Amino acid sequence: MTLPKFTHLAPSSLDEALDLLNEKGEKTKVIAGGSDLMVQLKHRTTTPEFILDIKGLNGLEGISAGSDGKTNIGALTTLDTVSESEQIKEQFPILARAAFKVASSQIRNVGTLGGNVCLNTRCWYYNQTSQWREAIPACYKMGGDECLVIKNSDKCNAVFLADTVPALIALDAELKILKKGGERTIPIEQLYNGSGHPSNLLGADEILGEIQIPATPKNTYSVFIKDAPREVVDFAIVNMAMCITFKGNDGVCEKARIAAGGVTSGPVRSLKGEDALKGKKITDSLADEVADLVVKDAAPISPIWVSPSQRRQTLRTFVKRQLMAALANNQGN
Ligand SMILES: Cc1cc2nc3c(=O)[nH]c(=O)nc-3n(C[C@H](O)[C@H](O)[C@H](O)COP(=O)(O)OP(=O)(O)OC[C@H]3O[C@@H](n4cnc5c(N)ncnc54)[C@H](O)[C@@H]3O)c2cc1C
Ligand code: SF4
Repeated sequence: MTLPKFTHLAPSSLDEALDLLNEKGEKTKVIAGGSDLMVQLKHRTTTPEFILDIKGLNGLEGISAGSDGKTNIGALTTLDTVSESEQIKEQFPILARAAFKVASSQIRNVGTLGGNVCLNTRCWYYNQTSQWREAIPACYKMGGDECLVIKNSDKCNAVFLADTVPALIALDAELKILKKGGERTIPIEQLYNGSGHPSNLLGADEILGEIQIPATPKNTYSVFIKDAPREVVDFAIVNMAMCITFKGNDGVCEKARIAAGGVTSGPVRSLKGEDALKGKKITDSLADEVADLVVKDAAPISPIWVSPSQRRQTLRTFVKRQLMAALANNQGN
C-alpha cells in the first residue's frame, strides 16, 4: 500500500512546530512514532495536506521530576521506555504494565505515550483500506450521514482502545497541552468527550507536550488488566485500571479511581463506582455493587468485534475480582 501525497514538515524547534500548526493546523496531522498514523495514511482514512513531524524535537521526551512531587513524562517518550523504566515500574506499575500491553515490542519501540493518549478511535467499517470502504455507504466518520454500527445513532460510535489511558486516569494524570503563545494543563479525562469522531478535544493548533502524574498515596493497591483476543499485537476487548487507597489495614477504602477502555467511544471513569467505595469497608457484596455501578457508568455499546454483553461481563469480573484482591492485599492475606 502506498502513501498519499503530502508535504512533510520537519521543524527544528518546538516554537517552529507551534508556528506551523498555528498557520496550517486544519490541514495538518502531527506525527510522532507514526505506528498508527502511517496505517491510517495508507488506508486513506486521513489525507492531510501536511504532516508535521515532531519526533526530532528537543524537550518533549524523557521522564523527569516535576513540581509538587509529580513525575513528568514527555509526550514523545516511547512506550518501550515507559514500560522498561525502573522509576515508572516502581512508582506507577500500572502505567508500565499498560504500556507493555500495547501491541508488540517493535511497535512499542517507536510508538509514543503521547501518540497513545491521542490515538484515534477504531471501527470495523472505518479501519479498512479505501478500496474496501468504497463498497459501503459513507458513515459519519467518512463524511456521510449515518452510523453503520448503530442504526439511527446521531453520532460516530467507534471504540476508544488506547491502553495507557485508563491507567493514566486511575493515576489522576494531567496533560500539558501546547500551542503558539500559550499552554494549558487539564485532567486527562477532559481530553475526551465520548464521541467516536473526533476522538479527542485537542485543537488543530495544539500539541500534547507532557503527561504529569502525581505521587500515588501510600497504602494504595493499583492494577491494570487487559482482555484481548490474542496475548500480543491486539487491541483490547476491555481494559480496566484502578487505584484503591486504604485508610489503614482494615479494608476501609479512603479513595478510589476506576477507569475502563474498549467499552465505548471514550475512556470511562466510573464516578458512581468510586463514590460507592469511599469511606466503606470492602466486602463481597460491596464489590458486587461497585462492579455493577462501573458497568453502568461504562455502558458498553459497540456490537462490533464482541457483543456489549461480553464486554459488560468481562468488565464486571475485572472490577469484582480486583476489589477482592485489593482487600486481600490490604489485610495482608
Ligand atoms: C498492529 C498494531 C497494533 C496496535 N496495538 C495497540 C494496542 O494493543 N493498544 C494500543 O493502545 N494501541 C495499539 N496500537 C496503536 C499505536 O501503535 C499506539 O497507540 C501508539 O502508542 C501510537 O503512538 P505513535 O507515537 O506511534 O502515534 P502516531 O501514530 O504518530 O499518532 C497517533 C495519533 O496521535 C496524534 N499525535 C501523536 N502524538 C501527538 C502529540 N504529541 N500531540 C498531538 N497529537 C499527537 C497523531 O496526529 C495521530 O492522530 C497498535 C497499532 C498497530 C499498527
Ligand atoms: S462507528 Fe459508525 S460512524 Fe463511526 S466509524 Fe464506525 S460506522 Fe462509521
